[in-house]
Amino acid sequence: MPDHAPVQQVVIAGGGTAGWMAAALLAKTMGSTVDIRLVESEEIGTVGVGEATIPPIRQFNQVLGLDENEFLRRTQGTFKLGIQFRDWGRAGDCYMHAFGEVGRDLGMGSFHQYWMRAVREGNAGRFWDYSVNETAALANRFDRIDKLPGSPLQGVVHAFHFDAALYARYLREFSERLGVTRIEGKITQVERRADNGFIEALVLDNGDRVAGELFIDCTGFRALLIGKALGVEYEDWSHLLPCDRAAAVPSEPVNPLGSYTRATARNAGWQWRIPLQHRIGNGHVYCSNYMSDDEAVSTLLDNLDGAALDEPRLLKFTTGRRKQFWSRNCIALGLASGFMEPLESTSIHLIQTGVSWLVRLFPNRRFEQANIDEFNRQCLFDFDRIRDFLILHYKLNEKDDLPFWRDCQNSPTPERLKHRLELFEAGGGVYRELGELFTESAWLQVMFGQNIQPRNYHSIVDGISSKQLQEYLNNLKTIIQGAVRRLPEHEDFIRRHCAAPSP
Ligand SMILES: Cc1cc2nc3c(=O)[nH]c(=O)nc-3n(C[C@H](O)[C@H](O)[C@H](O)COP(=O)(O)OP(=O)(O)OC[C@H]3O[C@@H](n4cnc5c(N)ncnc54)[C@H](O)[C@@H]3O)c2cc1C
Repeated sequence: MPDHAPVQQVVIAGGGTAGWMAAALLAKTMGSTVDIRLVESEEIGTVGVGEATIPPIRQFNQVLGLDENEFLRRTQGTFKLGIQFRDWGRAGDCYMHAFGEVGRDLGMGSFHQYWMRAVREGNAGRFWDYSVNETAALANRFDRIDKLPGSPLQGVVHAFHFDAALYARYLREFSERLGVTRIEGKITQVERRADNGFIEALVLDNGDRVAGELFIDCTGFRALLIGKALGVEYEDWSHLLPCDRAAAVPSEPVNPLGSYTRATARNAGWQWRIPLQHRIGNGHVYCSNYMSDDEAVSTLLDNLDGAALDEPRLLKFTTGRRKQFWSRNCIALGLASGFMEPLESTSIHLIQTGVSWLVRLFPNRRFEQANIDEFNRQCLFDFDRIRDFLILHYKLNEKDDLPFWRDCQNSPTPERLKHRLELFEAGGGVYRELGELFTESAWLQVMFGQNIQPRNYHSIVDGISSKQLQEYLNNLKTIIQGAVRRLPEHEDFIRRHCAAPSP
């Protein structure tokens, strides 16, 4: 085969969410020309957490051609309309990062600018009164609607909560049907070519050799290929995102389940609540410099909605990323590529974007540097911007009495984030870079939710009278509330369309 022929043999190391998402997308898009093998070890197992997602995952499932109801039945899934943040700015605060738009712009005047003017005039409701998703989530209502009937307003924008182990199993069946070969075994050695350091084969504990041209490292925090074998360094972001541990435990389901993730601030971190059909996933993410494991576990267990179904599990991590995501003939996906803590449910999304970029930049046997550089550039773009958005939640707090939170206020602020904050404080300015994950509406909700008040609003919104402004806001609120009242209850919707069998 000439050097410029496309790679034909792909070996995926690891079968967690990352390994099987990579296998599924590659098999679906390139399976007719590429041989895909995946090595995983049941004995080692997977990280076993990662249950909340964000809306782009629907595109991933659509590309695979998965039926959404079937997918939810198979994974004990529920619908997710946003993340509710409790006690983040100050104790007692509560706001949501609801998916989708908030309000509706009028010409070039942004909705939030009109809202800020109405706040000054003493005539505004909460910012979220104009969010379809928050209104639906708090009313426990859900339907798949793209538009609110009889109005130009966006409908309900959803993602999912699901059992990550069941998702990986579902994708495994899907991938095997498309010809992916699964190999059970423990990787004990990674063989490299003497001339260029490329990976040649994985050696398993039974002595088998799995050779290939392109290797995808999905071995989780172990990073056996990209880290251990190739020596690609890890850039530590603990000074920016200091949480380094999590205790996780499932609890009994409650009624209503809720259609949003809950993230409640604790003394040295925060606690998640993720409702699935058969159980609630709970976890306490914390910083070990400020809290002991015992204290973290007892805080977690003291704050469950139902009885715990298992013993709490402890996970340790270092926030950060690989300095390169693609090195030589090895690409890292999932936890092997980095981890930025689960506050905004972005890790599974980064697997999705990583494997999508791999398909777009699929290499030939020369492994052209341009493809490698572009892949690394795109992954870095996503990691950096998500990191800034996460830091925002920690930085904007007023809990001066708690050492962890006080130190978060004073931690370093990356330049891009500093600029965003200054721009917003000056006049409510907000922007989304081309290709950036988080929308203007996402940034606004966290900034308003954590109590930053811009010094002024944009004068473009002075073009209408106070009465017109009032009517405009009232109409929006009335339309949203009326439409949400007509939606079915979240549990009813699940019962009718995608109820999972009892496990
Ligand atoms: C506390 C916490 C909470 C999280 N919550 C969320 C969330 O809500 N939303 C979200 O999007 N993400 C979340 N994540 C991230 C999410 O869990 C991961 O992105 C996702 O599960 C992918 O993991 P992975 O496949 O990279 O690694 P793993 O699940 O660890 O899989 C590693 C695979 O490699 C295999 N392996 C390892 N070593 C060997 C070996 N020597 N030989 C053979 N096989 C081997 C293992 O058997 C396994 O199959 C969370 C992570 C943590 C730590």
